[in-house]
Amino acid sequence: MADCDLCGVSIPTVVPVRAFMPRFEHSYPEGIWKGLCEQCLKAAKETADRTATSSSCGTAGKCDLCGAIAQLQPVEISRPSFSKGQEEDTVMLCKKCLASVQEADKNWQKQKAEEHHDHH
Ligand SMILES: [Zn+2]
Ligand SMILES: [Zn+2]
Repeated sequence: MADCDLCGVSIPTVVPVRAFMPRFEHSYPEGIWKGLCEQCLKAAKETADRTATSSSCGTAGKCDLCGAIAQLQPVEISRPSFSKGQEEDTVMLCKKCLASVQEADKNWQKQKAEEHHDHH
């Protein structure tokens, strides 16, 4: 089992997303791999797509994925909650992470398509 780095849900497989953490810049210049569940990946990708076509420069703050202080875009996710089952929440991601999400989504969709192909 793995935990999604955004909503914390435990699932068998998370989608790998590369994050460039400023804290580990020197030890991991290539970035480190974070894991997102498909729902968070989808939500983050929607934000990434929307950001690409909007002129909004975002809100300054600390990125929820890589910890960088940057201009952030809101991603609406639902977190597993003991009391309510699901709880709406908003996480803030920087542009670098959103770009990584788009790349991760592309690879993930490709991988899924290939797996599908194998079964036939
Ligand atoms: Zn998640
Ligand atoms: Zn980030």
